Amino acid sequence: MINAHTEVYAILGHPVRHSFSPAIHNAAFQANNINAVYVAFDVENIADALKGIRALGIRGASITIPHKIAIIPYLDELTDLASKIGSVNTVYWEDGKLKGDNTDAYGFYESLSHHEEITDKTILMLGAGGAALAVSFALFAYDKPAKLIIAARNREQREQLRSRLLSNFPDATIETCNFESLSEARKQSQIIINTTPVGMFPNEDQIPFDPALIPEKITVMDLIYHPVETRLLQEAARKHCTIIPGTEMLLYQAARQFEIWTGEKPPLPIMKKALLSCLKQN
Ligand code: NAP
Repeated sequence: MINAHTEVYAILGHPVRHSFSPAIHNAAFQANNINAVYVAFDVENIADALKGIRALGIRGASITIPHKIAIIPYLDELTDLASKIGSVNTVYWEDGKLKGDNTDAYGFYESLSHHEEITDKTILMLGAGGAALAVSFALFAYDKPAKLIIAARNREQREQLRSRLLSNFPDATIETCNFESLSEARKQSQIIINTTPVGMFPNEDQIPFDPALIPEKITVMDLIYHPVETRLLQEAARKHCTIIPGTEMLLYQAARQFEIWTGEKPPLPIMKKALLSCLKQN
């Protein structure tokens, strides 16, 4: 029951009305009998929103597009990983300071490592945008792949990501290519990760590359969570690959946020049920 002691958590983004996070977090608070509520704020000015968080004593926040980078100057501190990635998706209080963390990296790693050994593997990552940043940092911060191949259509973007990774992980082996050279890159790869939005609702018929190029029996992960099974994953399943939908990363990043905010074990099955029910309704 909401009363005078109810604590408030929020997601700050623009647009934000499509977000599944309120359903996932409110289900978790309820399951663990925590007197808290999680709401969505459609925010254009992140500096003002942060003043609001401080003034109103909001206990924690998820940060989404377009504020993940812009929020950084307004926080008191960043975790080491968020600082390296240069992007924040979680805000919490610690010792009176407002801190920023990045649970996308954790959520991604948790999801992939449940299905596949990453150490010494060659990984092909499609895309070099915001999510690719968290994914690629997680690969080297939490594990030791043999090689990462970054495929992106924008040369400057993929080279910038490579340089940034190498300045943090000098021993890493990282190559880049464009989408036209995927044929060669995919032959070496044991894991393919799509971080582009190609195939996302309402363009479910799209696929980031020719499905004939998907190797047999590798692991294919798509960060897209709507639809749960993208065309890329459907084609990969036909090639007897292990497939990992983006719902898993979404779930694990939310679970990590819950843990940071409450110090309690997240009720994963309840959070998953809430997420799947949102997807069914959309
Ligand atoms: P972003 O910053 O806009 O980056 C998208 C990347 O994909 C860029 O490198 C972009 O290249 C590339 N791209 C876009 N359209 C392309 C196309 N038609 N062909 C080839 N490359 C293309 O977006 P983001 O924040 O990284 O998000 C990407 C996807 O990840 C979205 O679908 C998002 O929903 C998903 N995501 C999922 C989770 C999760 O928890 N499951 C978390 C974060 C993000 P250009 O710059 O050349 O356009």
